[in-house]
Amino acid sequence: MTVAFPVDLHTHSLRSDGALSPTELVRRAAERGVRIQALADHDTLSGVAEAQAEGDRAGVRVIPATELNTESEWGDVHVLAYFVDPADAALEERLRWLRENRGRRIELMVENLDRLGYPVSMERVREIARGGSSRPEGAEQAMPLGRPHLAQALFEAGHVPSYDAAFDTLISKDSAAYVARVGLAPLEAVELARAHGAVPSLAHPGTVPRLDEVLPRLVGAGLAGIECYYGSHTPEETARYLRLAARYDLVPTGGSDFHGRGEHGAPLGGVFVPRGSVDALYHVLAVEGGRT
Ligand code: AMP
Ligand code: ZN
Ligand code: FE
Ligand code: FE
Repeated sequence: MTVAFPVDLHTHSLRSDGALSPTELVRRAAERGVRIQALADHDTLSGVAEAQAEGDRAGVRVIPATELNTESEWGDVHVLAYFVDPADAALEERLRWLRENRGRRIELMVENLDRLGYPVSMERVREIARGGSSRPEGAEQAMPLGRPHLAQALFEAGHVPSYDAAFDTLISKDSAAYVARVGLAPLEAVELARAHGAVPSLAHPGTVPRLDEVLPRLVGAGLAGIECYYGSHTPEETARYLRLAARYDLVPTGGSDFHGRGEHGAPLGGVFVPRGSVDALYHVLAVEGGRT
């Protein structure tokens, strides 16, 4: 059994591409000793109310967040926006646009896979995104589709030996079926978070190859944090990101990136994150948040 830590600032539920409902996710985190948890579903805030209700019952403070994934010549710049407001209609409008783009991209990948001889049904992919049921229970809005749903469908259809294997083969970035994401540019993601009073942090910075050049640009756009503590980081990587955090006065954030499927990410509360990181995020919120 892995050691669990009380702070986890990066988790996903089935409201985006995780496997557990917001309630199950928070309950399981509480059982593992997590006390402060950010729900960072991609491009949706639809799980926040449910997660917070369970958090009240289970003694977990749930920070509302969203992870904005961007794909560009800068690499995979994923921006965690902390303290987003589920009642912010203008933000919801932008997120809805991102969700629609996600859906179109996965449809195109399904078409490509079909042509290549690996058919899966788009309806099954959508069902997986809804948590396996054919009726969208409690999901009045379209789910943000992602490769995790496609990977699950490919596994079920017997086209890959495991969920994780799909990411290394049929739907890897260099596969013939791959379709790049259309959405926000990296600086736009940071600016969107700031424009809506949220506190943006760069997720898993290891996916940004020329970080030394890119980070000052992101900081110029309003980046406030960098995810220093992450399951796959070596001690040397963590130290490097902590130095960058100090240099640019960024909050060192961290979390599991738990999805509940396959080997990707760490277990809930499986990554050490200091209490001071949470204090510092709240400090940025108090001083600079609410800018809408
Ligand atoms: P997408 O954003 O649709 O390109 O899909 C990438 C998402 O899949 C990210 O949120 C990852 O966290 C998630 N993911 C889950 N399992 C894996 C895996 N085995 N390899 C890479 N990404 C994964
Ligand atoms: Zn994800
Ligand atoms: Fe990410
Ligand atoms: Fe994530």
